[in-house]
Amino acid sequence: MKLLLGGITEISTIDYPGHTASVVYMCGCPYRCPFCQNSTLVDKKDCREIEVTEAVSRLRVNIPLITGVCITGGEPTVQMDGLIKMCKLLKKEGVKIKLDTNGYYPKRVNELIDMGLLDFVAVDIKAPFTPEKYVRAVGLEGVDGVRDGKELIKRVAATLEIIASSGIDFEPRTTVVPGLVYKKDDILAIANFLRDKGFDYYVLQQFRPENGCLEREYENYAAPPRDYLFDVGREVREIVPDVLIRTKENGEENVS
Ligand code: SF4
Repeated sequence: MKLLLGGITEISTIDYPGHTASVVYMCGCPYRCPFCQNSTLVDKKDCREIEVTEAVSRLRVNIPLITGVCITGGEPTVQMDGLIKMCKLLKKEGVKIKLDTNGYYPKRVNELIDMGLLDFVAVDIKAPFTPEKYVRAVGLEGVDGVRDGKELIKRVAATLEIIASSGIDFEPRTTVVPGLVYKKDDILAIANFLRDKGFDYYVLQQFRPENGCLEREYENYAAPPRDYLFDVGREVREIVPDVLIRTKENGEENVS
């Protein structure tokens, strides 16, 4: 069985909280977020088919140095069969597995959790849970044949509910992007949604244009200042008790 991969980072200390991990970049994604920094994975450019066993053999070499593998994309659950096989083989190696997902496929995330293949799930929440804002943030506004915004938010909410009830480690997170999800009210609305679902933790990430964006115009937008994220984080903390911000300037900071 094969996987379509954009590459592997052998060793990373920033992609899996508490672990030194390898990172696997899987190709394909149902979204087209204009600020996406992984457009080659979304468009499947520079992707390569590789046998699952070959990918795992390559990761196995890193095992003396890593305790986890972060599987990201793109949207990894697009390639469900290969993903399951890879996770099963990695589990046999005794490493922890983190999945980064956009939440579009709740049943697939549920299946992976039920099979005991995941130890940590990070879910991207792209916008407040209003259909128009969500569909715009994921770049599908006006696209023919696209599930509408209501369907998108239903799916992401279902993914969050699955994770909240699973008991596994999680990270609900939002990238703060000028013009899309930036206003304090929008971020507080997401925080309220998370609190209502039982989450006590929320991560705000800084949009970073310097490595290119799927929509070129976003490369002209400035990264939100760290101080702005911190200010918003303080207000979020009134709703969700545990808030972390991630910026180029200061890395990861707990908001206190
Ligand atoms: S940022 Fe959006 S388009 Fe890019 S990989 Fe993530 S979900 Fe897909």
